Amino acid sequence: MPFSDFYGNEEIITRLREMLGRDRLPHSIILAGPRGSGKYTLAQMIAKTLNCHRLRQSEPPPLLLAPPPPEPGLPDFCGECDSCLNLAQGDDLEARCNEAVEARDALRETDRKETRILIQSHPDVLVIPPDPPQLMIKVDQVRHVTETIYHRPTTGGHRVFIFSSSAFMKEAANALLKVLEEPPDFATILLLTENPGEFLPTIRSRCVTFTLAPLRVEELEQWLARRRPEWSANERTLAARLSNGGVGAALDFDVAAYSAARKDALVLLDAAVGAGDYSALFRTTETYRAGAEGRAKTEQLLRSLYSLLEDLMFLSSGAAEMVRNRDIERQLTALAAKVDFDWITRAAQGLGEVERGMRRNLLRNLSLDAFALALDRDSN
Ligand SMILES: [Zn+2]
Repeated sequence: MPFSDFYGNEEIITRLREMLGRDRLPHSIILAGPRGSGKYTLAQMIAKTLNCHRLRQSEPPPLLLAPPPPEPGLPDFCGECDSCLNLAQGDDLEARCNEAVEARDALRETDRKETRILIQSHPDVLVIPPDPPQLMIKVDQVRHVTETIYHRPTTGGHRVFIFSSSAFMKEAANALLKVLEEPPDFATILLLTENPGEFLPTIRSRCVTFTLAPLRVEELEQWLARRRPEWSANERTLAARLSNGGVGAALDFDVAAYSAARKDALVLLDAAVGAGDYSALFRTTETYRAGAEGRAKTEQLLRSLYSLLEDLMFLSSGAAEMVRNRDIERQLTALAAKVDFDWITRAAQGLGEVERGMRRNLLRNLSLDAFALALDRDSN
């Protein structure tokens, strides 16, 4: 996947490539953007370009096959040399993290406590993900960076450190600040975040920030028509409208799981406005059980409930064009006629209660029943 495959945000991509071409890439970069906007994909592309063998002229090309010619003036990685192939193994960050966590779980307890999750598929590129179970970047992870960042690149390329989250423990943030004060010429630090405001102001002031803008719904739909031709137009619209402008989020959108959850969500809402009989409600909530699988299913249900409540809000405030669950707009309009602004607010608060209950491990089906019944009682 070369730079030209990165969809959207052309201006930022061009600027970064120009900097790479002139060897003027800043040494400390914040890459900001909503979830699924391609921050990590872009960080990987930068790391590949900085280390691609084909782009380093002093070296003969390792393969006889000629690489595709780069766009004039803008460097691109080849995707085929050893360096690019090594780095590509890190493209699926979630899979690499899961492997690293499994490997850590298999260690003896004393070793396990001292082991931090770091992802490395190339000798000069290190990815630092949030460390479970707290899912924060910890001081030992940053220390590993401070201790190794001054080592020259082993492959003659460029050292790259990608922090995939901005959730830093306090001590870790302070340690990071020290590296950012004086990174060596041959290293670049990339800090990925949904919200640059989460970084200390002193960290932000030492970095150059690039913000990936969310894409418009129409742009995402066009992109999905190319990349997900097997989806129906309705499904593509739904994915585009529910991904908050993120290309990755739209591509990974699980239409089937969302539709199933939404069906249940509508049963709950029907009961909550007094339109459904309770047996349908109980039959549905009965399927929300304890355990990890039940948790994921409940989270999916809550997400779709929130999206339906937002749509009800749009409909009751005369902003029907904002509705995202457009394929069921008639059903939603009928629901919206039965509720008012206060009811929607109470429903959103009720969902907050269910979420808090999940953290306390309350029985999921009971708290879902309670959510619907309390609203129904209030509306009578
Ligand atoms: Zn390459």
